[in-house]
Amino acid sequence: MLSPAVENLVTQLTKLPGIGRRSAQRLTFHLLSARPEDALELARAIEDVKSRVRFCRECGNLTEEELCPICADPRRDRTVICVVEQPVDVVSLERTAEFRGLYHVLGGALSPIDGVEPSDLRIAGLLARIDGGEIQEIVLATNPTMTGEATAAYLADRLRERVRVTRLASGLPVGGDLEYADEVTLGRALAGRREM
Ligand SMILES: [Zn+2]
Repeated sequence: MLSPAVENLVTQLTKLPGIGRRSAQRLTFHLLSARPEDALELARAIEDVKSRVRFCRECGNLTEEELCPICADPRRDRTVICVVEQPVDVVSLERTAEFRGLYHVLGGALSPIDGVEPSDLRIAGLLARIDGGEIQEIVLATNPTMTGEATAAYLADRLRERVRVTRLASGLPVGGDLEYADEVTLGRALAGRREM
């Protein structure tokens, strides 16, 4: 019923999280009726993030430079690293304004069922940072999900001998992602972190 080009855009949009076919059609028709420069602005923005944004050399956060703004900030506490699954978790934790240390973004969580092994995550990089000697505490802030807990347990086992390891306090909704926790709850979980 739709022309091939229109159908293609609908298909591409349905690949986005939370976008079903009806939403994709609505967005497509919106773009079709938008001014060409507005629609192309969106296309260019997508192109820009894909070509400019990369992973921070140090922590795996998103950046347009070698180092992300947090790693490059001399005012951050370099003795504490908060370990998270995804760059979006850094955004959530920064919003709480509770944490002044550095981050380490793993790029996912261990999940043997989905074929995600330790070597698929940025664990070697984390160990290398601890080898640097300045780190005194690792805060494990992986999601309170099955894979997030498994990842925290795995890391705690490997790191406990070398550095103080803590985990976000409970109170976070179990099975949910940090991304969806409100700032107050997340800030409290961070302030009340416990030895692991
Ligand atoms: Zn960084």
